[in-house]
Amino acid sequence: MTRISIQFLESTYPEASPQAVRECLRRACQTLPVESILLGWDLPPALEEAVASEANQQGAALYRWHPLLASDSGAALPDEWKTIGANQRAIPGFHNLPEFTFFCPNHPAAQEWMNTCIEKAIRRGIYQGIFFDRMRWPSPTEDLGEHFGCFCPHCRALAARNGLDLALARRFVVRLLADAAGAQRLIRALFAPETEESPLEDFLQFRADCISRTIAACSEQARAGGLAVGLDCFSPGLMRMVGQDLAPLSQSCDWAKLMIYPRTFGPAGIPYELHGFVHWLEKHYGLPKDDGLQFVRLASQIDPTQPGTFEQETALAKTGSEAPVFIGLALVEMENVNSFSDEHLQADLIACKSSQPDGLVLSWDLWLIPPRRLERIAQIFT
Ligand SMILES: [Zn+2]
Repeated sequence: MTRISIQFLESTYPEASPQAVRECLRRACQTLPVESILLGWDLPPALEEAVASEANQQGAALYRWHPLLASDSGAALPDEWKTIGANQRAIPGFHNLPEFTFFCPNHPAAQEWMNTCIEKAIRRGIYQGIFFDRMRWPSPTEDLGEHFGCFCPHCRALAARNGLDLALARRFVVRLLADAAGAQRLIRALFAPETEESPLEDFLQFRADCISRTIAACSEQARAGGLAVGLDCFSPGLMRMVGQDLAPLSQSCDWAKLMIYPRTFGPAGIPYELHGFVHWLEKHYGLPKDDGLQFVRLASQIDPTQPGTFEQETALAKTGSEAPVFIGLALVEMENVNSFSDEHLQADLIACKSSQPDGLVLSWDLWLIPPRRLERIAQIFT
């Protein structure tokens, strides 16, 4: 049977009283065999406790949904922790939101802070697991000059200890950015290894190693405290560009969620990320939009407008993962961000089922998912 996990209460909603969130969760558990609840990170204790108590009654494990490499509150973290782009400036967050502004996992103070957050989750005493979100480098798709990093002093020092000259790698990237051909080479390298030896390939490997090592350490700490570990991963075809390598990552988790979002125009959504490159190539290099789109589809080998995306991306994950893989389903409509009809959803669910994932993660988030959609999932998957 397909395992079911649900993301719940990313933030507080005005009508979300302790009683109301319990009822919402109970209804979901009556509709579907829910194995775990991934609970938002910045909630009043009374809401956390209400959800913990109901999850316990329903026999579902409670995970803290934790943004690992970004702020876990509305407050910004210190500027000096931020990741640094090829232009030597701090990489801005999506809409400058603190929870979407990444810090560098190689900054010692940030590492201490990560450990403190995990320790707090363990000591909270209500969780049986932790779900690491924002476990990656910033996505570079919006602007490779500004968003592709990290070249901070801590990364430079760590790379040097491993025989890699990040100053050289940065200069190589800057040279590529000088013209459209270089920019396209850079984009191709974000999806598939360079055929010849280059500082770019070494840099991409360094980025992936940093994320894998960070997750291994955080996971070890969480597990020593008795928590299971789930990971929030980009769609497999997009993982390399944010430094996620599923083979090593899957050795540090109990399961991995894949954000195969074929209709989402927001961070991690496949069309959003791919169109980012298209806009950037048009804006900076004058590449016509249609040509850009064709180039990016060829480079990424992903075309979310065609059927087969779920099957292709899940198969890719299964060849690389030692842990069970769960498909993330974006089930909430948002104007201009996630638009779909009931027919689209039906087609996606059938494609998702034929991909034979180990589980599903229903997102985002349960509070906003119409009950009829949960019933549809139950009809197809259980
Ligand atoms: Zn860094």
